[in-house]
Amino acid sequence: MTPFTVTIADGIARVVLDLPGESVNKITRGVRDELDAILTSLGADATVRGVVLLSGKEDTFIAGADIDEFVALPSREAAHTLVRTGQALINRIPSLGKPVVAAIHGACLGGGLEAALACTYRVATEHEKTKLGLPEVQLGIIPAAGGCQRLPRLIGLQAALDIILAGKVLPARVAYRRGIVDDLVHPAILERVAVDVARRLADGWRPTRPTGGLKGWLLEGNPAGRALVFSLARKQVLAKTGGHYPAPLAALDAVAEGLRHGIPAGLEREARHFADLAVGDVSRALVGIFFATTALKKDFGGAEGVEPRSVQRLGILGAGFMGSGIGGTAATQTGVDVRFRDTGLAAVGKGIAGARHILDARLKRRRLTKFEHRRLTALLSGGTNWAGFGRTDLVIEAVFEDLEVKHQVFRELEGHVRDECILASNTSTIPITRIASVLRRPERILGMHFFSPVEKMPLLEVITTAQTASWVTATAVDFGRRMGKTVVVVRDEPGFWVNRILAPYLNEAGRLVAEGADVREIDRRMKQYGFPVGPITLLDEVGLDVGLKASRVLHEAFGERMAPVAGLQALVEAGRLGRKTGRGFYRYDGGRRRGIDESVRDIVGAGSGPTPADVEDRLVYAMLNEAALAMEAGVVRTPRDGDIAAIFGIGFPPFRGGPLRELDRVGAVRAVEVLRRLETKYGPRFAPAPALVQQAEQGIHFYLKT
Ligand code: NAD
Repeated sequence: MTPFTVTIADGIARVVLDLPGESVNKITRGVRDELDAILTSLGADATVRGVVLLSGKEDTFIAGADIDEFVALPSREAAHTLVRTGQALINRIPSLGKPVVAAIHGACLGGGLEAALACTYRVATEHEKTKLGLPEVQLGIIPAAGGCQRLPRLIGLQAALDIILAGKVLPARVAYRRGIVDDLVHPAILERVAVDVARRLADGWRPTRPTGGLKGWLLEGNPAGRALVFSLARKQVLAKTGGHYPAPLAALDAVAEGLRHGIPAGLEREARHFADLAVGDVSRALVGIFFATTALKKDFGGAEGVEPRSVQRLGILGAGFMGSGIGGTAATQTGVDVRFRDTGLAAVGKGIAGARHILDARLKRRRLTKFEHRRLTALLSGGTNWAGFGRTDLVIEAVFEDLEVKHQVFRELEGHVRDECILASNTSTIPITRIASVLRRPERILGMHFFSPVEKMPLLEVITTAQTASWVTATAVDFGRRMGKTVVVVRDEPGFWVNRILAPYLNEAGRLVAEGADVREIDRRMKQYGFPVGPITLLDEVGLDVGLKASRVLHEAFGERMAPVAGLQALVEAGRLGRKTGRGFYRYDGGRRRGIDESVRDIVGAGSGPTPADVEDRLVYAMLNEAALAMEAGVVRTPRDGDIAAIFGIGFPPFRGGPLRELDRVGAVRAVEVLRRLETKYGPRFAPAPALVQQAEQGIHFYLKT
């Protein structure tokens, strides 16, 4: 079985790639070797006047280079050789002396698009599966098979940088509008159109492509304009990445080099940057995240092999902020029937309106057709009684965070649903076992902890108790995935995973304010570390009351280590709940932040002294140490789950690979050293996790070293 089939008819060779034993086409060593031989033979065959490159797969053209091969690269030199070989192969396409047409249906990404860019002409199908892009920087590398050279020459410098620097993937329609593909056709006629174009090209016809006009020339057609574009792009990259991600800057340099000194020089620069990046820490961390999320898609948290049951009808208890978000996202993503219940009609109405808002936003962004929008909106209903709950397959509770209230609603709920209906709580902190204690059938309850805003946040923690049946876990995980979430199954311990590791970090930030640290300085330091927002901003967003409530639960469970800062209660009592009340640590007006609220200091009783020492270590190690403790307690099953949940739930810096991978990078010996120093200076809350001490003694890590 070989990857390619070549047929020649009427002077046109159809080269079809269909990688045996794989669901998608990717560029492997075997593919490269055979394509090389095919190009040699087609080049020498005088009967062949043109070539069409096609895929035999249902919905990929070429998904990119083989990531396994790239991960296994042992050295910089090996990476450099690999890229140079790939570049030489792709360069053979434009120098074949015969027109080559790429006939693209399905994913055309990375090396796949770079091969297509080397072709004379690109035809793509107008189909939702057809997507084109250069996502390399998302894996910490750059397009290094000519992508940094050919894309700017085809569509202009700014348009190309927009794609390369952000690792964008575009729907076929948009790729056509931007000039990446020359023609857009129905899948049924793709091959016919491509063959026809190859023939016309062989007869001497040439496509005319837009030049970008005077504005394009002023900005890009001369060195001064180009220098301006590069300098702006560099500034934007640095602002966005905080300098933590080297790949976009390397790509920028490879593009610049090629435009200044020609394609061969640009290609050599691509190869050099690729070789450095491919064996670097950032790329290894980002590739780790890619593999982890891929593996999580097939992981049922210990309920493997158990068939998830179908969920057609969803009930939501409590149509507040979270309830409406969950209901709206479920309807949008899965098309299930959603029935809300709340205590008053006004609350029900508000909840349905909130859910509808999610659908409206998708319609506005053209992610839904008007027809789909109408159909999905009709799935939302609600009331103050139990009508409709007798037919639900899953009910998610999102009432107030109060055990008494939760007990009361679950007791009542059990009398209105079928025995097979799964009951889930969206509680942020209350142990599910405590909620389940009043139920007749505790085996069908679990936690489904969504994050706000539900429609945007990618993570779902599914919390199982010792009694949760495996089919219940499998069904909740499956439904979470249908809702578009990355699902991590965690054990029922206070705070679960995300809130548990977040709490000591936020508490420490509160302590620093109480000691006189500048609020903005704390936020700035953590943004510099790589978090999307600082801890004080996060507290204001989450709500100080919510934070305090969570802190109390964790304090009760874990003792002094998690004690909330005294000032937090005072702020809540003063009605400063964060953004939602217009005042927290910062002031807000009309939804916009208006600067720091100086009077906070009077309330938390702090003098305004200089920024205390150890700001970064205290904040970061509060979280890292808690992650080590929770991992040791078995809250997550693998370091992978813990890291992914921290990245997707809190925004832990992806380039660090997650808190546990970061601990591995720092090394247990050093981590224990830092923690002991902090413990001596600031108290026993920094006592190093026993797991870290053991790792330091035995020279082991959370992850197996490869
Ligand atoms: P919310 O106050 O916005 O909504 C709660 C809703 O529950 C209100 O509409 C209220 O009328 C309703 N309710 C109260 N008692 C009820 C009853 N007996 N029957 C039916 N409805 C009842 O609160 P929220 O922020 O949406 O939080 C809901 C749950 O989600 C809490 O357990 C919270 O810990 C959890 N949670 C919140 C967030 C967040 O960021 N807000 C994040 C994750 C989880």
